[in-house]
Amino acid sequence: MKHMRSFLTFPVRHYSKDVSEQTLSKSHQVISPLNFVLGKRIDAQGPSSFQLIAPATGKKLRNIATSNEQDINEAVLAARNSYRSWSKWTGFERGKVLKTAADLIRSKVDDLAYTEVLDTGKPIWEARYDILGCADTIEFYGGLAGGIKGDFMQLSGGSFAYTIREPLGVVGGIGAWNFPFQMAAWKSAPALACGNTMVFKPSQVTPLTAVMLGDIYQQAGLPGGCYNVVQGEGETGQILCSHPNIDKVTFTGSVPTGSRIMAACAKDIKHVTLELGGKSPFVVFSDADLDNAVKGAILANFSNQGQVCSNGTRVYVEESIAEKFLAKLIERVENMKIGDPYQEDTTIGATISPQQAAIVEDYINIGKKEGATVVYGGERVTPPGSNFAGGIYMRPCILVNCTDSMRVVKEEIFGPVMSLLTFKSEEEVIARANESEFGLAGGVFTRDLQRAHRFVAALEVGSIYVNNYNVYPVGVPFGGYKKSGIGRENGEDSLDYYSQIKSVYFEGGDVECPY
Ligand code: NAD
Repeated sequence: MKHMRSFLTFPVRHYSKDVSEQTLSKSHQVISPLNFVLGKRIDAQGPSSFQLIAPATGKKLRNIATSNEQDINEAVLAARNSYRSWSKWTGFERGKVLKTAADLIRSKVDDLAYTEVLDTGKPIWEARYDILGCADTIEFYGGLAGGIKGDFMQLSGGSFAYTIREPLGVVGGIGAWNFPFQMAAWKSAPALACGNTMVFKPSQVTPLTAVMLGDIYQQAGLPGGCYNVVQGEGETGQILCSHPNIDKVTFTGSVPTGSRIMAACAKDIKHVTLELGGKSPFVVFSDADLDNAVKGAILANFSNQGQVCSNGTRVYVEESIAEKFLAKLIERVENMKIGDPYQEDTTIGATISPQQAAIVEDYINIGKKEGATVVYGGERVTPPGSNFAGGIYMRPCILVNCTDSMRVVKEEIFGPVMSLLTFKSEEEVIARANESEFGLAGGVFTRDLQRAHRFVAALEVGSIYVNNYNVYPVGVPFGGYKKSGIGRENGEDSLDYYSQIKSVYFEGGDVECPY
């Protein structure tokens, strides 16, 4: 859940017989080639391949050929050749292409959203929400493109200097599986706005909508080769990062992979942006509006099946209101509807994969062994309808009797597991909130303005929510402190990470030389 829009403003098209997984799985988006090079869908050479599974039903959709070194060479060469002309377009011209792409995304929102559901198992309205947010992001960078400029400095004796903001070159993008279209959009839009070209590798689990973005850019007038997609697993990502003709890598994923990518980039002194994991604190003071705090806690833990990097999964509640908070929380979570993600009223869809479900279940067991108690959920649910028997559906889990030293409280689970902790004082909770190797996000619910400001100043994180959580309006930078990453996305600041400054000195007089 990444953008602040009213859910009610979205066009809602109700689930019909025309949009079922069976029909979607035979659609062009699924059966056509899934690499995208020089503006065309093409097949990777393989010879190895991997399977694409629909999380909602557990059914196999197809095999996808793995992009090998030659596939990546071709995509990078296409991006390099296109860079020569694209980087010479004016920012305004580049911006027009991005704005057209944003409009096309809006006109195809249902196509994109249903395909995203097929890939991820997330509820359809969440997918629609993500896709429309991406249209805004691409339009936002389209608007900024024409204003990308350098600076002018008057110097003494008629001399002067100016700076030119230039693109970096060819950017390699690598995405995670929880917001597949968003990863492709958040990375490509600022990169293209600055005049770079891109080769993007989506997660092997969610390959479909990044290619649809390629089709859309093409239709919007982006020259072939400016945005390319290669499909593959970790090894393909590794080849892309280490490619000598890639100038920058922008990555979203886990800390261990981020660390490996940074090491690969260090070898060739490549620019790198890392959007990594988190274990964010969510703090509720006794003076908070309790209903809003409960809503915030649910947004912070259970949207997208709990698979959100910025989730506030360490929920610290002031001791005096902890029982009341928990009672209200359970009452609201009980109403969440688990099941068919293609239904408009479903609020919890399928977990991305059996492997991820096993990680989540392992953590719940570890928590229990460490002394935590499951007060709600944590078990698998079989939704009505035989179609969904092969998907994995989990009831959101609330753990109490947690302590800061437990693994469930310290480590990122990336599933619907909330750890509830209590605190007595502001100083205490700030110290505990900061006691983490991560620093992606944090939240505080309080009506005390001064306390809110103290909290904002003290928390060591990249994004802080005061009296809300997990909203990402376009234009507000997003990124982590500490091990949660390097760089920013979604705001004007991202342009700094996709461009470099050339300083130009002009002499207005004679050369002064003491030699
Ligand atoms: P992951 O690190 O396993 O994989 C991410 C991507 O990296 C995939 O495309 C994968 O194929 C590729 N990859 C794997 N090994 C590689 C290597 N050696 N070199 C190059 N590429 C390689 O992460 P995931 O399981 O897909 O996603 C979940 C993680 O992503 C969580 O930790 C989550 O917090 C994080 N995430 C962060 C943000 C953010 O903005 N900070 C957003 C979403 C997800």
